[in-house]
Amino acid sequence: MKCKAGLKSFGLVCLLCISTASSALDEVKLQLRWYHQFQFAGYYMAIEKGFYRQQGIDAILIPGGPHALKPVDLLLNGQVDFAITSSGIVIHRMQGDPVVAIAAIMQTSPLTWITLDSSNIRIAQDLPGHTALTMPPPEGAELLAILKHEGINSKSVNIEISTYNIEDLISNKVQAFNGYISNEPYYLTQRGIKYHLIKPRDYGINFYSDVLVTSERLAHKDPELVKRFTKASLKGWMYALNHIEETVNIIHEKYAPNKTLEHLRYEAQTIQDLVMPELVQLGHMNPGRWGFIAKTYADLGIASGNVDLEGFIFNYKEPTNYFLPIAIIVLFSVLLGIAAFIIYHFRKLSQALKRSNQELASLAISDPLTGIMNRRGFMENAERLMSMEERNKQSCSLMVLDIDYFKKINDKYGHPVGDFCLIEFTEIIQSCCRLHDLVARIGGEEFVILLSDCDTQQAREKASYIIKRVNDHEFKPNGIKDTIKLTVSIGLAEVKGNLIQAWQHADEALYAVKNSGRNGLQIYMAST
Ligand code: GH3
Ligand code: MG
Ligand code: MG
Repeated sequence: MKCKAGLKSFGLVCLLCISTASSALDEVKLQLRWYHQFQFAGYYMAIEKGFYRQQGIDAILIPGGPHALKPVDLLLNGQVDFAITSSGIVIHRMQGDPVVAIAAIMQTSPLTWITLDSSNIRIAQDLPGHTALTMPPPEGAELLAILKHEGINSKSVNIEISTYNIEDLISNKVQAFNGYISNEPYYLTQRGIKYHLIKPRDYGINFYSDVLVTSERLAHKDPELVKRFTKASLKGWMYALNHIEETVNIIHEKYAPNKTLEHLRYEAQTIQDLVMPELVQLGHMNPGRWGFIAKTYADLGIASGNVDLEGFIFNYKEPTNYFLPIAIIVLFSVLLGIAAFIIYHFRKLSQALKRSNQELASLAISDPLTGIMNRRGFMENAERLMSMEERNKQSCSLMVLDIDYFKKINDKYGHPVGDFCLIEFTEIIQSCCRLHDLVARIGGEEFVILLSDCDTQQAREKASYIIKRVNDHEFKPNGIKDTIKLTVSIGLAEVKGNLIQAWQHADEALYAVKNSGRNGLQIYMAST
């Protein structure tokens, strides 16, 4: 009898624990940038699959739209806890707004100018004399940066704030419409209208997009919550990208019934290319790249202020060891308490172990200075890419690059200035490459690029473009008066199924360039 009563009260305690645990979810509001669509797939799936709930979070997603307040303003007002916004978030930081970037979901921006084939406007140079729409800065800054980059006087183009109405493009009221590569091109294709895209990335402007941000206040007050929310969100993204069909169906059913399944599938495909899950760790942010973006805004006159990004990137620090004090309390707690404690800590410990393993794995394949792949990451990914190329029977080229007389830069200005140049150099070569090219730093000032679906002739054109971009670039590190100029030597070889051999060949070609005066390129020829 006594035993029965004991069991009963034990059950009651358990029930109480479970019900308080489930009602103690932290409510968190996330402000989206736009209407519900595949662009926010990861967050829907984190709800759907219970990833937020597992982290003790009840997430509420708030859609945006053309007339809604900007996500970052809602965040700064304290109306939401997290927001999805553009690279423009760094401008807020430069102005002293207390915002913190957590993860960049899209490694490159989907923003593009769209022109009609019938208007004969195909490239940025065709824009002067026409009307181009853009969102108010900083949202549309990538587009304005194209004009700056190409030396086009922005006054020669009639820039107007977007009407968000694609009909204005179709009726030729405006000639360049600001859109997303994942969205408007679909509508136009559906209607049989031919178009061109003037994409920032094609002009060397490579901004992050759909950046998850929070307020400095929350990041300081409850870093654990920020971490849990981020973890569940990234898990949701991983799930969404691995289960496109399921995700598309859920978005259509629960969030965006007005978008057809076919449209959502199209959106999924383009967004996957921007998130680049196979090449970059999901959400990855590189401080050097943020510095580069900040500098572009400053050069455009859109932002002023300090480009010091200290504290801008969310950096979770494990709380100090609280195992011991809790262990003392545990000595005095009831059996149930002890059991719960052990289970809880065992899970935390294994999670921490898993996390540090993941961090180690990502450290092992990436270069800490520039954030791109290192030699090992390159070799691992190159093998996968080559087997794909082999299947598709496409030709593949290898480019090895070595900065000329780099030692002199270090000797004259010091190592930090050299590091700055290496980061900017990396940005330049990355911006010259396509999404599926593999770019890696394999040694001090030596880089390698595997160009898939690219014969040596096309590789030669790319190499001479890189040489020109490097020649034209002015490296302006903070704190020194001089403008530094660099040149680069490039060796090229065709990859015929054997990467190591191609590497040796490209190296030979590189040394021929070094011997004949540098700042140039050579293709390896079997007879040389
Ligand atoms: P060459 O035209 O023959 O390639 O001349 P070089 O001076 O570029 O070549 P060398 O290989 O002699 O020197 C490479 C220099 O790169 C040596 C070192 O000072 C510098 N370096 C290597 N790694 C780093 C790094 O991580 N940061 C900085 N700042 N410099 C580095
Ligand atoms: Mg070298
Ligand atoms: Mg060198």
